[in-house]
Amino acid sequence: MTANTGPSPSPDAVRIIIVGGVAGGMSAAARARRLDEHAQIVVLEQGNYVSFANCGLPYHLSGEIAARDELLLHTPESLAGSLNLDVRTGQRVTGIDRTAQQVTIQTGDDSYALPYDALVLSPGAVAVRPAIEGLNHPAVHTLRTVPDVDALRERIEDLLAHPRHREQTQTRPRAVVIGAGFIGLEAVEALTARGLKVHLVELADHVLPPLDAELAPLLADELAAHGVDLRLGVSAQAVTQAAAMPVTLGGTIRESGKASSPGPVSVTLSDGAALAADLVIVNVGVRPASALALEAGLELGPTGAIRVDGDQHTSDPHIWAVGDAVEVTQAITGARIPVPLAGPANRQGRRAADSICGRRTTPQASVLGTAIVRVFGLTAATTGVNQATLRRAGIAHEVVHIHPGHHAGYYPGSEQVHLVASFAPDGTLLGAQGVGRAGVDKRIDVLATAIRAGMSANDLAELELAYAPPYGSAKDPVNMLGFVAQNVLDATMPQWQAQDLDKARETTLILDVRSRSEYSQGHVGGALNIPHLELRQRLNEVAAQAGGRTVSVYCASGVRSYLATRVLLSEGFDARNLSGGWLTLQALHPNL
Ligand SMILES: Cc1cc2nc3c(=O)[nH]c(=O)nc-3n(C[C@H](O)[C@H](O)[C@H](O)COP(=O)(O)OP(=O)(O)OC[C@H]3O[C@@H](n4cnc5c(N)ncnc54)[C@H](O)[C@@H]3O)c2cc1C
Repeated sequence: MTANTGPSPSPDAVRIIIVGGVAGGMSAAARARRLDEHAQIVVLEQGNYVSFANCGLPYHLSGEIAARDELLLHTPESLAGSLNLDVRTGQRVTGIDRTAQQVTIQTGDDSYALPYDALVLSPGAVAVRPAIEGLNHPAVHTLRTVPDVDALRERIEDLLAHPRHREQTQTRPRAVVIGAGFIGLEAVEALTARGLKVHLVELADHVLPPLDAELAPLLADELAAHGVDLRLGVSAQAVTQAAAMPVTLGGTIRESGKASSPGPVSVTLSDGAALAADLVIVNVGVRPASALALEAGLELGPTGAIRVDGDQHTSDPHIWAVGDAVEVTQAITGARIPVPLAGPANRQGRRAADSICGRRTTPQASVLGTAIVRVFGLTAATTGVNQATLRRAGIAHEVVHIHPGHHAGYYPGSEQVHLVASFAPDGTLLGAQGVGRAGVDKRIDVLATAIRAGMSANDLAELELAYAPPYGSAKDPVNMLGFVAQNVLDATMPQWQAQDLDKARETTLILDVRSRSEYSQGHVGGALNIPHLELRQRLNEVAAQAGGRTVSVYCASGVRSYLATRVLLSEGFDARNLSGGWLTLQALHPNL
C-alpha cells in the first residue's frame, strides 16, 4: 500500500529511503521532512502498520488502552497529509545494492527497485526463539506487533467466552509466560488483569535479570500476591498438545472453545514439572535484525548489531542505521552492545536525519539503558549498570542500599522506596536501581540525569530537589544516597554487604541493634542483640564477645546500625554497618 498524495518531487530532490516505519525509522522520516521540504522520502515497512506504539501493546492486551486505534499513532495517509511522506506498508526490503545505490523491495509476488541518495536502516530486532520443542504450536504467541496483540486478544476472548467444564475447580483460563524480562512481566500483568491464571517461567534465578538480586525478591513477592505462579531457575523444554477438555457453553458440552481453537497445551520444564496452559507467550529477549545489513556487506559488531559512528553512519557513507539493530556505547563500561529501547531509537533516528540533511550533529551520546516497568502495584527501574555488570567488567565500586519513604514519613501515604546505587572509588555514580510503590520513576530519572552529567556522591548530596511533604523530603532519597555514599567513601561508615554474610558469620561478631521484638521475629543466627539505645551502656558485652574481632552491625534498614557503628568506631572497635540492613539481607537470604 502506498499513500503519497503530496506534490511530485523535483528531479534533483535528495532521495531518502527508510527501512522500517516504527520508532527509529519514523523519527528519521519526520525529522528529515522538517529539515528538507523538498526531499523525496520513502518509508518501507514490511508490516501492515507504521508508527504504532509497540510499548503500548501490553496495555491494550490488559484492556487499559481499550481502543486499538489508540496504538496506531499514524497511518500512511496521515503521514502523507502532514509530512508529505511516501509511506508504503506491506513492502519488505530484500536487498541493498550498494554500488548502484538501490534497494530491492518485495511486495506480494512482485518486486521492484528504488534508488537512494541516503538509506536509513531501522529494521528493529527479532525475537529470540529459544530451543523449545513445539514452539510452532498455535497456542504459542509472541508480543511484539499489532497482529500479535490482536491474536492474543482474540484467544483470550475465546477462552473467556467458552470456559472449560464449570465443575472443574480450575475454571480460569491458564497461561504460561516464558521469560521474566520487561515485556514478559508486562504480559503477566496484562494476562492476570484479564482473569487468567499465569505461570511465569524464568531461567535466571530471579525475575527481571537486569535488576540486582537483592531487589528482585520484592517483585517476586508482588507477583505471588497477585496469584502468579513463579518458576525460577528452570527452562521450558517442550510445548505439547494436551488432551482437549470438555467445555460447557450454555449447558451444552463442547470439545473445544472454537473450531479453530488450538486447545490446551502442556509446557514441560527442565525440572520435570508440566504446566497446563490455554496459551503461551514466549518473550526471552531480542537480537538485532541485521540480516539485510550483513548481506549488503555492512560492518557488524561481535554482538551482530550494525556498527555505526556518532552520526549513525554505517561503514557505507550513503547508509545510516538506527534503533534496536545498531551497536551503541554503554556509558559506564564502554562496551559496544545493542540496547533495544524506544528512547535511544527515537533519538538516533533524529540524529541520522540531521546528518543526512547536513546539520551539524552532536555525536551520539553513550547509552545508559535507563528502563522502567510496572509490576502490579510496584515499579522497578534501572539506569547505568548493575552490580553484576560492574563485577564482570572489573570496575571497582562501592554499593549502597537505602529504604527511605518516597515522601516525608509524617505525611500520610508514605511508601518505602528501595534504592541501590553503585559508585566508583572517586565517588562517580555508575548505576542505580529502585523498586517501590511510589516515587521510583522520578528518583531513577534524576539519577539517570546525574550519571549523564558525570555527577558524584558529593553532587547527589548537594542536589536541590523540589520538596513539600506530599512530594518528597527535605533530604530526598537521592540526597540520602549521596550522604550514605559520602560516608562510605570517606570511611566515616565502613560497611559490609549482605552477600558476604557467610564470611561475616565466620570471622566477625554480628551485632543486631534492633529492638528485642524485632530480633525475636527473625535474626541472623548467633547475632548478639543490643538495641542501639542501650549500646553505650553495654559496650563491655560487645568487647567480651568480639574478642578483638570486627563487629558487623545491622538493623532493619541501616540507619540505627549507622549510629551504632559510629559509637563503636569512636570507642575503638573495628566496626562496620550492613548496607541496606535486615531488609536487604532477607531479600538475599530468605531462609534466615
Ligand atoms: C511489546 C513491547 C513493549 C515495549 N516497551 C517498551 C518500553 O516500555 N520502553 C522502551 O524504551 N522500549 C520498549 N520497547 C522497545 C521499543 O519498542 C524498541 O526499542 C523500538 O521500537 C525500536 O525501534 P526500531 O525503529 O529500532 O524498531 P521497531 O520500532 O521495532 O521498527 C522496526 C520495523 O522495521 C520493520 N522491518 C524490519 N525489516 C524490514 C525490512 N527488511 N523491510 C521493511 N520493513 C522492515 C519491522 O516490521 C518493524 O515494524 C517495547 C517493545 C515491545 C515489542
